[in-house]
Amino acid sequence: MNNRQKSALLEILNDSVIFDAEMASYSTLRAGGRAEALCFINSLALLTAVMGFLNRESINCMAIGKGSNLLVMDQGIKGAVLILKGELANIRGRSGNLVTAGGGVSNRELIKYCIQEGLSDMEFLAGVPGTIGGAVMMNAGAYGKETGDYIEKIGIVTSSGIAEELFGSGINFSYRGSSVPERSVIYSVTIKLRNDERAQIKERVEKNLSMRRASQPLDMPNCGSVFKNPQGDFAARLIEASGLKGFKIGGAMISRKHANFIVNMGDAKASDILALIEAARKRVKEDSGIVLETEVRVVGQ
Ligand SMILES: Cc1cc2nc3c(=O)[nH]c(=O)nc-3n(C[C@H](O)[C@H](O)[C@H](O)COP(=O)(O)OP(=O)(O)OC[C@H]3O[C@@H](n4cnc5c(N)ncnc54)[C@H](O)[C@@H]3O)c2cc1C
Repeated sequence: MNNRQKSALLEILNDSVIFDAEMASYSTLRAGGRAEALCFINSLALLTAVMGFLNRESINCMAIGKGSNLLVMDQGIKGAVLILKGELANIRGRSGNLVTAGGGVSNRELIKYCIQEGLSDMEFLAGVPGTIGGAVMMNAGAYGKETGDYIEKIGIVTSSGIAEELFGSGINFSYRGSSVPERSVIYSVTIKLRNDERAQIKERVEKNLSMRRASQPLDMPNCGSVFKNPQGDFAARLIEASGLKGFKIGGAMISRKHANFIVNMGDAKASDILALIEAARKRVKEDSGIVLETEVRVVGQ
């Protein structure tokens, strides 16, 4: 990004840009390099303006939510990283059983709202520390439920800066993925929920959170499940069977509590984490013949 492009970005975003931003604070793994420009976007008008500009200038861009499924490599991200704020990170409200939220709303806030409103079905996302935009992109799921099952429609801005609406029925949701175009940004999500007793919804949320506390290493930086579960098996079982619990490279370790989690012991480089991912993949393949696919998204260089 040259100086003219940087000045233009500052002007469009009223200075809400950090150049050469360290991304470890924006990723739950607390590791990784810098982004050329980290842009905070408060409105749909600004989002379309910024994406149109980046497209015309051929500058790469990607949206992130809470960075809870991201490994940012040590040499960082070339181009712009977009974070949704303001009205793009607020719950807009409900119309009957439909709730509309900005793509940057955290799952935690959304679930809190659902409890207040007596609306059920988002309980499975309790303890998934991302945004609803990230949950749609990843088709986040737990306990046999997936985000895609509850999507009425989403608002996106395409990589060329055009705002569009997509209906849930027209999106192809798969295991930890969706057909939402990769470089588009989900700025709004409308979910379809059911009425239920507040106390019961709250109880299910608490139960899910306590199951996670019991089984996941939540006291250390991590990105949730590193690998997808292969058909008919569990990545954690395979990694544990290969004797890799507690295996370390640099500052990264395969969790002793949950073998499909890698934890940052404090000073892990992204390259340590990636090396550990590759080592686990290699050992599991040698021992079981199964090639594990990553769930965590590796970005940057
Ligand atoms: C402790 C822990 C537990 C977890 N448990 C689960 C679990 O049970 N199930 C599960 O599925 N996942 C789980 N995860 C992984 C992660 O939380 C989910 O994948 C989550 O949906 C990612 O959301 P995010 O907002 O953090 O997205 P990010 O990690 O910031 O981004 C993930 C991907 O989505 C894209 N993206 C994010 N926001 C947008 C947007 N607004 N528009 C377009 N693209 C966007 C990014 O470009 C990136 O490709 C867990 C993670 C942790 C740390």
